Amino acid sequence: PFEFAETLIKQRIGMETSRPAQRVHDWLVNQSGNFVFPTGDQRPLGREMLVMDLGVESPHMIGPDSITEPVLSRIICDEMKAESAKVVIGRYLEPRLIYDSELFDSKDYRESRTIHLGMDVFDIAGTSVKAPMDGEVYLFHDNTSPLDYGPVIILKHKTDDGDEFFSLYGHLARTSLESLEVGQPIKAGETFATLGGPHENGGWPPHLHFQLIVDLFGMGTDFPGVGRASRVSTWRQFCPDPNLMLGIPADRFPKQPLLKSTTLKVRKSRMGGNLSIGYQEPLKPVRGWKQYLYDENGQKFIDAYNNVPHVGHCHPRVVKALHSQAKRLNTNTRYLSDTVIQYAEALANTMPDGLDVCYFLNSASEANELALRLARAKTGGKDLIVLEGAYHGHSTTLIDISPYKHDGPGGNGAPDWVHTAPVADVYRGSYRDAKTAGSKYAESVGEIIDRVNLNGRQVCGFIAESCPSVGGQILFPEGYLADVYRRIRAAGGVCIADEVQTGYGRLGEWFYGFQQQNTAEETVVPDIVVLGKPIGNGHPIAALVTTREIADSFANGMEFFSTFGGNTVSAVVGKTVLDIVHEERLADHAKSVGEFLLSNFRELIKRHKIIGDVRGSGLFLGIELVRDHETLEPADREASYVANRMRERRILIGTDGPLNNVLKVRPPMPFSIENAKSLIEALDQTLSEICPRSQ
Ligand code: PMP
Repeated sequence: PFEFAETLIKQRIGMETSRPAQRVHDWLVNQSGNFVFPTGDQRPLGREMLVMDLGVESPHMIGPDSITEPVLSRIICDEMKAESAKVVIGRYLEPRLIYDSELFDSKDYRESRTIHLGMDVFDIAGTSVKAPMDGEVYLFHDNTSPLDYGPVIILKHKTDDGDEFFSLYGHLARTSLESLEVGQPIKAGETFATLGGPHENGGWPPHLHFQLIVDLFGMGTDFPGVGRASRVSTWRQFCPDPNLMLGIPADRFPKQPLLKSTTLKVRKSRMGGNLSIGYQEPLKPVRGWKQYLYDENGQKFIDAYNNVPHVGHCHPRVVKALHSQAKRLNTNTRYLSDTVIQYAEALANTMPDGLDVCYFLNSASEANELALRLARAKTGGKDLIVLEGAYHGHSTTLIDISPYKHDGPGGNGAPDWVHTAPVADVYRGSYRDAKTAGSKYAESVGEIIDRVNLNGRQVCGFIAESCPSVGGQILFPEGYLADVYRRIRAAGGVCIADEVQTGYGRLGEWFYGFQQQNTAEETVVPDIVVLGKPIGNGHPIAALVTTREIADSFANGMEFFSTFGGNTVSAVVGKTVLDIVHEERLADHAKSVGEFLLSNFRELIKRHKIIGDVRGSGLFLGIELVRDHETLEPADREASYVANRMRERRILIGTDGPLNNVLKVRPPMPFSIENAKSLIEALDQTLSEICPRSQ
């Protein structure tokens, strides 16, 4: 019914019927102050009345998927006690998380209903409900579906000019309906109902839902109490603000967040212009939970893109650990701390033998900078071999070693000490035979080493993401890294694995990306491993793990110190995240969900010609789109279209790769099979929009 109502209301806006709406509104404004408060004995406008933030950004709403009865009642009661309030008011037009149920999902799956169209008065069950003004009983019914109004009464009123309007009272006690009669006059201040308990009121904390309605559009007691954010201006006209009657002063209301358009405007004027914003329609998430993000209107998005909240957005254990440590001590590595050594030990335990010395930093850029310093200190060489399309960080030196940046827009190319090898890509690269490609691509690294040596220079090392991510979600062909590492070591260099995107079980079967390159004969072990993004779950932590020998060669007398690196709070967060990865068996989970996704993506290849390649492992996946399977012409515009359409369908993915034609899927690790099904279905529909299905 609510969709029907929205259509009707929309049609009538600006037409004849919207005028009475304005007249009713004006009348209510003129009358304000003359109305009776609908519950309680007096108008509770003092301290005993609390307007509570029950919106998307409310600090009280933790764990949006579990805020149903009796949790919600407890949250409200706790807040009542904390503020010594007797009555709690819920706001009009508040975007809410508590409608996070299919029952509020519209058929138009791009937007669910989240906006509260009335006001709430929370009080104990049995509290009398009084008529705020003269009227008559127009309709009543017991709406027994879960999360509906339960017993609901609608009164009809008239303005002095004879315009009719209605007031709706939901979540009443069933006994309220017993002696009512349609047409029965009700005087202002007269008790005509009482509040119901959760067993009879639709399953909510005891409260009155109080809503003003100018036109019921024939929907009677099914008139919606919650609407869609995109139709707020429409609803506002036909459901005036109940506070016109309650008269709660504006300063008692929680502060309103900025409009998204204001946020965008101020950002543009106050922040650097080359900070990019994802999606054509920017997203303003105000809450994260597990593998979901919620925007300012309470719309829920499946997050299939963000790899930083590795164990899930706002994991309660991480939040608790951070809070608990921050209350007690936060200091640096110049003091002894059990916390930081426990973290270092736990981290070293995830590594192959020999990699057991840890450095802690604040960002992966810093960790990669340090990796380069270590490599140079160990070898005395300066030159570094990197891969095409690679990105390792944003400092001056790291831009120098990141072809993704220095060969891209605004870049100045590589300095003479940086040597770029082709990325071992068996789909698009020069060697496409998976069996031989590993050694062929490794040979190109060997050729670079020879050239460097011929020029009388010394290679200090080789840095690569163990599976190039920015490079397009690529898994190296068998034998590649082992061969490259052998050649680098033979030339006196060290092997640096950038595991910023691939580490911590994301690949499912392997805890680190370099392990994907292990063979029956050979175990691949880098000399330096760099970790970043996921290890703090959003808290800025990065780490570097290396051998004692390399660490010793770096200890040449110059102190190494990072003010914030390894601080007490970050160490606690880091250790907690790692514990969660192990205890929640997230790598195993990534493996099974990843296999499900990969096999379904492969099915999509049969239906959508535009898919050139599907690759990856665990929850590190890429779908490369091409316009032609022979020429591999990159379908970059199509990839961008898909990511934006998926966002409209409330599933977040991204695009990447040197040609911007790879759809990137790398969600928070709790991403479920159910989420995977939604993703596959939405992707199937979206791809069908860009090209007809192949038979
Ligand atoms: N290495 C890789 C592979 C990355 O993806 C990134 C960040 N995108 C970095 C290093 C740099 O990380 P940060 O932004 O934390 O400095």
